[in-house]
Amino acid sequence: MVSFVRPIARLVEELTKLPGIGPKTAQRLALHIVAAPREDVHALADAIVEAREKTIYCSICCNLTDIDPCRLCTREGRDRSVLCVVEDPKDVIALERTREYKGLYHVLQGAISPMDGIGPQDLRIEELLRRLQSGEIQEIIVATDPNPEGEATAMYLARLIKPLGIKVTRMAHGMPVGGDLEYIDEVTLTKALEGRREM
Ligand SMILES: [Zn+2]
Repeated sequence: MVSFVRPIARLVEELTKLPGIGPKTAQRLALHIVAAPREDVHALADAIVEAREKTIYCSICCNLTDIDPCRLCTREGRDRSVLCVVEDPKDVIALERTREYKGLYHVLQGAISPMDGIGPQDLRIEELLRRLQSGEIQEIIVATDPNPEGEATAMYLARLIKPLGIKVTRMAHGMPVGGDLEYIDEVTLTKALEGRREM
């Protein structure tokens, strides 16, 4: 059987580790890369290394950032009494796009999913509870995805936070069930935010 020379095979192997990249796509990308101008390939490699090296988690909201605390946590004019809890950094970007939400965020870095072996201890819940101790936060908007994992996470958080005397709300229905927050358009997201209900 004829196979790729070692350097290309190695590149294919590394690319296949990326999410959404199967062997065929990996081969196509690898062949594109080896035929591309040298400077483009170096720029790509540098961008990958720089993104990995210079990105950290905000010590307050657990979002990805290049400075700690992140710009959203320190930005003036944000409502510090409201905290929106989301699953991942893409959701923060989606909610910021609406330009309606003015509060702060907390990024869980996932959702409870027993099937995938992800429990509450694997999420940034301890960090969230620590933030609530200041007494500054009066409302938690749970904006986890409208799918079984997101709902289970929302229920778990409500049970944990309500006894602390903090209002816990959930984004309204109207969001497509089984969907992913990042793919919901701004208008629907704004309506879901405005129509949030107490859990
Ligand atoms: Zn932050």
